[in-house]
Amino acid sequence: MLVSCPEGRSLSHDTQPKLERREALQVRGVVQGVGFRPFVYRLAAEEGLSGFIGNDTDGVTIEIEGPKERVESFGKRLRSEAPPLSRIDSVAARVIAPTGERGFRIVASEVHGQVSTGIPADAATCADCLRELLDPTDRRYRYPFLNCTNCGPRFTITRRIPYDRPQTSMAGFKMCPACQAEYDDPANRRFHAQPNACPVCGPRVWMVRAEGAELSSLDPVAECIERLLAGEIMAIKGIGGFHLGVDATNEAAVLRLRERKHRYGKPLAVMVRDLAAAREICDLTDEEEALLVTPARPIVLAHGREDCGIAPSVAPGIPWLGVFLPYAPLQHLLFSDSRLKALVMTSANLSEEPIAIDNDEARTRLGMIADAFLMHDREILQRCDDSVMAVVDGAPQLIRRARGFVPLGLPLPGKIEGKGSPPLLAVGGHLKSVFTLARGKFAYQSQHLGDLENITGLDFFRESLAHLMRTFEIEPEIVVHDLHPGYLSTSWAKEWAAERGVRLIAVQHHHAHIAACMAEHGLEGPVIGLSLDGTGYGIGGRIWGGEVLIAHLDRFERFAHLDYAPMPGGESAIREPWRMALGALRAAGFDIESPDVLALLGASAQDAHVLRRMIDRGLNAPMTSSLGRLFDAVAAVVLGRRTVDYEAQAAIELEGIAAGEPDDDDPDEDRYALELRAGDWSRREAAILGTAPLWRGLLDDLNASVSKPRIAARFHAAVVDGFVRAAVLARETTGVGQVAMSGGCLHNRRLVRLLRTRLEAQGFELYRHRQVSPGDGGLSYGQAVVGAAVVRGEIG
Ligand SMILES: [Zn+2]
Ligand SMILES: [Zn+2]
Ligand SMILES: [Zn+2]
Repeated sequence: MLVSCPEGRSLSHDTQPKLERREALQVRGVVQGVGFRPFVYRLAAEEGLSGFIGNDTDGVTIEIEGPKERVESFGKRLRSEAPPLSRIDSVAARVIAPTGERGFRIVASEVHGQVSTGIPADAATCADCLRELLDPTDRRYRYPFLNCTNCGPRFTITRRIPYDRPQTSMAGFKMCPACQAEYDDPANRRFHAQPNACPVCGPRVWMVRAEGAELSSLDPVAECIERLLAGEIMAIKGIGGFHLGVDATNEAAVLRLRERKHRYGKPLAVMVRDLAAAREICDLTDEEEALLVTPARPIVLAHGREDCGIAPSVAPGIPWLGVFLPYAPLQHLLFSDSRLKALVMTSANLSEEPIAIDNDEARTRLGMIADAFLMHDREILQRCDDSVMAVVDGAPQLIRRARGFVPLGLPLPGKIEGKGSPPLLAVGGHLKSVFTLARGKFAYQSQHLGDLENITGLDFFRESLAHLMRTFEIEPEIVVHDLHPGYLSTSWAKEWAAERGVRLIAVQHHHAHIAACMAEHGLEGPVIGLSLDGTGYGIGGRIWGGEVLIAHLDRFERFAHLDYAPMPGGESAIREPWRMALGALRAAGFDIESPDVLALLGASAQDAHVLRRMIDRGLNAPMTSSLGRLFDAVAAVVLGRRTVDYEAQAAIELEGIAAGEPDDDDPDEDRYALELRAGDWSRREAAILGTAPLWRGLLDDLNASVSKPRIAARFHAAVVDGFVRAAVLARETTGVGQVAMSGGCLHNRRLVRLLRTRLEAQGFELYRHRQVSPGDGGLSYGQAVVGAAVVRGEIG
């Protein structure tokens, strides 16, 4: 159906140009809901071209007619000047017969066929909207829901595509004439801005006390600010869910939040007014500053400044602070009061449960945590936490991929032209759960879903899966899961596949990590895969995590691994690193009942005795080759940390104390070493990286009172040296020269920096994650890639 633009908006040309050319363009990528149609309309006007543009399920269709050089100029500018939130994946152009059409039109959306265009991700308030928000003469002055085609909520308010107002939670708000006029005007910044609203016609905010009654405040935002300044805990409804907000400079208030939320130790994110305020609390690099102001507005882990006024219990024990900038108008309004310097803004939930989104749900679940609620009546349809990123070795790296990134598509590599993957679901891991839906040449990762250990986590998984399946119209014919039989995601996948009679494919954990990295870079393999990770289920039932793989997309072989060490007590060795230390020392041949070792770990003779018996008898002491667990063990010995409050805390602290140390590249210095013992590769026997000499050097240094930061730095260098030598051996043996790195240990900046330097010095071509997390947040993407490759291999 064609719909003409309002009268007077059509463009007309006085003279009939001589050499008319007409092209039909099919643009694919993120081109809906990002101001693409008004952009094209403007472009056509500037070039004096006729034709039309319309959204379809594949992206946008454009037909353009006019002088040849103008049409060509249009094609170039289409790519080079595309709106900031758009992402053009491809433009297919073909020349068709001119029709003599006059003027340029925008046509209504067509809804048919298979959906392959994305819903855009949520985007932070743009500079134009922010100016209006703070301009007393503007009709949207201090209106918390203003937005335009260049900014505002998208994914979190959308039911299904195409992304049009009736498909969003703005459907219930009828636009007033002023808003409607903007919406209908192709020259307006708000042309087809689906969440367009104003104080007359749009959503509103109000305050509710924890005990129940609505507070009849004239200015709910001002009241919220006063309460924050008084040290109260506010539940503040945002874009992807509620935040719990508290004055970040008020130590007592921050402690109270931690107690009520049952979150001890794990760092809290801090929101500040703007870049200048962020510089006051963090030492920011140029790359970090650039990340802070991207439309995704992630939390950025940056080096915190001493004595910057942030309460000590915001991020205890580590040198980094998670900092981010306001991305919703309501948040900008909170900071419009200059008395408010910095707010802890943490996902509103108990411990690791999903973030609360619904007003009633928030009051039920957060009633014991928040003193009052700042609510609004624009429904959040998808829970979506803040994304977390860090600049690692000069490049941005995702740690948690959620708001601002989801549901942007990721590539699925494949050599068969025109054909991609059948509809497929990959369910991910266990903690930091994220699933992936894939079809054709694209994979769509869900938002970060949190831990699947509790029932609410699993509910969130189901809810989000149903939503994304509906959104992208993907009905999986294949379900891919981890090999671990104990993961909730594995048993869920088996049940779900059985119910639907679809095929199951199991993928080894560390292969999935490497495949994710390969797919991001379009690599088919073979590559040397360095999978440096916490724990993942290996082939044959042992727990892997310090792996050198020779990987293709659909298969892999294990070339080398860190030597096994027992985890006495299984999972409890993760929560209590001193157990892991005893296991690792025992495996390296030390007498763990000696007084020296006991003193180091603050362990009793009784404890050590019990653990030694567990280890020697192999009772509840599974063997692991995990590098993450070696970090834990070393952290327990060096820092004396017996227990942790959150996963990898000890390892993060170990990296933290080494942060000020120079990179340990002095060949004259006595370094710790991992001992590389080659296997017989003709019989596919893996090489082993033994830890005994590393531990000997480390304990000698401790006895010689070498500083702990130096010891931590030497340990990092030893790990890097060991894995680089293993990679060199792998290249000598197999001839493979590309290295893909993945796994949770790559959150460690020092490790990544040293690995990159050393591997490049050895002449390797190195690949790291750019679009997904190297940790288990990226796992399901890798599973989808392997699953699709397995199926492709069968088709031939
Ligand atoms: Zn805007
Ligand atoms: Zn309005
Ligand atoms: Zn992993």
